[in-house]
Amino acid sequence: MGARYRAHHYGLGMTQRPEHSALDLSTLAVTKGRPAREPDAPLNTPIVPASSFIAGGPTEYAREGGPTVFAFEEVIAALECAERTRPAQAVAFSSGMAAADAVLDLIPVGGRVVAPTTTYTGVAVRLRELAERGRIDLTLIDVTDTDAILASLTTGVHTLWMESPTNPLLEEADLATCLPAARSAGVRTVVDNTFATPILQRPLELGAHIVMHSATKSLSGHSDLLMGALVTEDPELAEELRTRRILLGAAPSAFDAYLALRGVRTLALRIQRAEASAQFLANKLRSEPSISRVRQAGTMVSIEFGGDAARADRVCQGTRLWAHATSLGGVESLLERRRRWPLEAEHVPEDLVRLSVGIEDPSDLWADLAHAIHAG
Ligand code: PLP
Repeated sequence: MGARYRAHHYGLGMTQRPEHSALDLSTLAVTKGRPAREPDAPLNTPIVPASSFIAGGPTEYAREGGPTVFAFEEVIAALECAERTRPAQAVAFSSGMAAADAVLDLIPVGGRVVAPTTTYTGVAVRLRELAERGRIDLTLIDVTDTDAILASLTTGVHTLWMESPTNPLLEEADLATCLPAARSAGVRTVVDNTFATPILQRPLELGAHIVMHSATKSLSGHSDLLMGALVTEDPELAEELRTRRILLGAAPSAFDAYLALRGVRTLALRIQRAEASAQFLANKLRSEPSISRVRQAGTMVSIEFGGDAARADRVCQGTRLWAHATSLGGVESLLERRRRWPLEAEHVPEDLVRLSVGIEDPSDLWADLAHAIHAG
């Protein structure tokens, strides 16, 4: 099922061409996923709202994809492409969770999975659920404990699931050590790269089999859609993942793919700006006496209020520029106390507030946050 619709029908699929390896990621984000340059062709891949396509071509039905979805996939594959020379393929999904589920669906019944103690809540709950049902055999590890991860890669492990930096503790794994070790042990490796984005970290280059994204976040960057993506340089695995999308019914809409494609054009600029602002804010926060702990990774900052969850709540409600809302990776800065969600892991401190730094002026962001902290 499926291989035929990957033909370069719309002038896409250029990811495979090694001559692009010399281009910077910011250039690839702008130039990939465009229609062929023919007179009067549009610069942008149009939104093609069709569930069904005339028979005989590469796409027959929208669960298999479509021009707008393929254009988005081409950009993401180019950005995550291993060493920017080896071909990679991306498969887009209707959400990050749908992408995660496609990977989990490939694990044989009873297959052993090694995963971090801290992952995004939805993934953590899903892993636990599958383990409780006997569908998988789950081993949880501290993602920063490289020795423990290496020791866990015993015979019989099917998948090593990694998230780095983790949500919301911002712990970082030694991917450069763990991924090749897992690969040599015959273990499939998956890295949720949502927080870092390919601008800051490219796990395929470090040995991952699959990179996973909630494209809802930084890739699309405007908090206006739900999408996910999986990227791999293994063509057979890509085909299996694409088949999962078709059979699980987890295809994104052409409208969302268009918005995500438009958003990803500015990914490099947004990440550079937001990361610089996050570092600036983390430094300011480190000198605040009422903040007991500051963590920062990429565009994200997590802070603690000396165990005072009520104060953390007041700060979340006391900002004017920062919006009190869940999610992350958008142009607008957001904050929330993660334990307000009943399913968030119990080892995440009650007073931890996660900040997603946007692209507003950093001094404006600091003034607003400092005001809320001092009033709180
Ligand atoms: N992975 C991470 C790190 C996330 O933060 C999220 C959502 O917050 C997901 C996966 C799930 O993605 P989605 O909400 O697009 O289903």
